[in-house]
Amino acid sequence: MDNSRSSWNTSLVNEVFNPTEAEEILSIPLSSFSTQDHLIWTGEHSGVYSVRSGYKLLLPAITTTNPEYELFKLIWQVNCPPKMNVQCWKFIRNFVPTKCNLCVRRVITDPTCARCLQEPEDVAHVLRNCPFADQVWSNMGIQCPKITQNVSFTVWLLDLLKQVGSNKSTDILVALWAIWTARNKFIFEGASTRPIDIVTSIKGYAVDISLVSNRSGFNHSSACVRWTAPVSPCVKVNVDAGFNKITKLATVGVAIRNTEGYFLGASSTIAYRVSSSFAAEAQAVVQGLHLALDLGFDQIVVEGDSRSIISKLVAASPDSSEAATLVMEAKGLSLNFRRCDFVFVHRSGNSVAHALSKYRQSVDFDHFWVDEVPHRIELAAAADRRWLDSP
Ligand SMILES: [Zn+2]
Repeated sequence: MDNSRSSWNTSLVNEVFNPTEAEEILSIPLSSFSTQDHLIWTGEHSGVYSVRSGYKLLLPAITTTNPEYELFKLIWQVNCPPKMNVQCWKFIRNFVPTKCNLCVRRVITDPTCARCLQEPEDVAHVLRNCPFADQVWSNMGIQCPKITQNVSFTVWLLDLLKQVGSNKSTDILVALWAIWTARNKFIFEGASTRPIDIVTSIKGYAVDISLVSNRSGFNHSSACVRWTAPVSPCVKVNVDAGFNKITKLATVGVAIRNTEGYFLGASSTIAYRVSSSFAAEAQAVVQGLHLALDLGFDQIVVEGDSRSIISKLVAASPDSSEAATLVMEAKGLSLNFRRCDFVFVHRSGNSVAHALSKYRQSVDFDHFWVDEVPHRIELAAAADRRWLDSP
């Protein structure tokens, strides 16, 4: 290390270590404030080992060839009430009280389907193979093969969702939920609904979901949050980072704006040898503080969309995560301001910093602006200002 410049002695590191190890070492961020060396566990944002994170690190090896994993990713993206996503997850995990499952638990002794009296009632039977379910699917106009010994429910559903595409996947989840609900009503209330009536309600429900979704922007990524202006005399510093795992490059965007939403300064830069997207977000905060200092602001609000980085910055306790050095650097830099608040904002309220981070991917050099920014960035800022004006 070159202590006087708080940087790695690159040539010495490259001379002593093999190329892979040297890259890893040079990716460790250094702070201009003196810190003790410490070991960290990179699987957890806190830097402390947990069984959960150990399991997660092993998971890719387990899941890459597992259709369940692919299916889970698909079903959580389907636009429908969360109870339907959860119900679908329960079907896949076989966490539903079918007659077969109740027999295994010795609650009942006869697994035969109460509706058709033909086969044992497991998830595949209720939702696809039972003649009742078969009529629902055919009335919906969906061509889907029966589930066989060679094709599990998971593989069948995965194929079906891929076949219909994202537009129709809501119909599929609503249908599964409706068939299961009809089954429960039949068993517990003796209510017999015709397959055609179920299809009518499935279609009505799917239309309602799409109407609600279009009207209110309903989806699982939470409501749309808008950028809010700082209160005078503070200026707001929005920061964001993009990260490329392979090249270990982070593109960093910083936007400094006043109470009317106009630019006072902005930058779009690249950081090299960044270890993770988590560290990239911390790097963005450090860049934002440097730009605000360089431009001479002394009361600022720093806003970023990484909840864990912001919570580390406001925490009184020392951090031991892989971003610890950068967090410490940011905390140290913040002492140079008369006032410096760190605030979390949802991604939708951080679109200008995001656009600035993306901008660096399309140009060859780092860019810094005062007052004026490129047209595409100005468009994003103008959108933020429009919301400031609206009542
Ligand atoms: Zn049946």
